[in-house]
Amino acid sequence: MDQFVLPVQKLIEEFEKLPGIGRKTAQRLAFHVLNQPEENVAEFAKALIDAKRKTKACSVCANLTDTDPCRICTSPKRDHSTICVVQSPKDVAAMERVREYNGLYHVLNGLISPLDGTGPDDINIKSLIKRVSGGKVKEVILATNPNVEGEATAVYISKILKPMGVKTTRIAQGIAVGGDLEYADEITLYKSLEGRREI
Ligand SMILES: [Zn+2]
Repeated sequence: MDQFVLPVQKLIEEFEKLPGIGRKTAQRLAFHVLNQPEENVAEFAKALIDAKRKTKACSVCANLTDTDPCRICTSPKRDHSTICVVQSPKDVAAMERVREYNGLYHVLNGLISPLDGTGPDDINIKSLIKRVSGGKVKEVILATNPNVEGEATAVYISKILKPMGVKTTRIAQGIAVGGDLEYADEITLYKSLEGRREI
């Protein structure tokens, strides 16, 4: 494939590595970039590097942050006795759109999935147990997505935390089975949070 000169070819290939981007879209994006003034392109490149360099996982909750611990973990305005457990930082962003939630988070960065070879030790469960064993947490809301892996992960965590004397709840099925938290609208998320039940 040497349809284009090497630098253009390289740019197309990089765009093609992005999720959901096929060859045609990659070409369109590459030519869009080439048609921009250099300063716009520089700003775009800087945004990519900055986002990568200036964010890391919070050492407490594993959410993406530019300060460590993150602003949520250190906020005196948040309810530190409630932790909402989610699959990814994208779910934290979704929950934060529901202004009624004022507790803390714990990002698992994955779900238990035997088929994919992901076990409990491959996701951030140990750090959650450590947080809960501190004694200040009263409720852990298991807000993993309502699919097979999400349910299995919620049940697994609940079985560990319950004997520790903490209330474990599961968000209600307001979100369609197989649906994703990150795509749910605020009202659906709010209702599923309000309707959570103990497991
Ligand atoms: Zn944090």
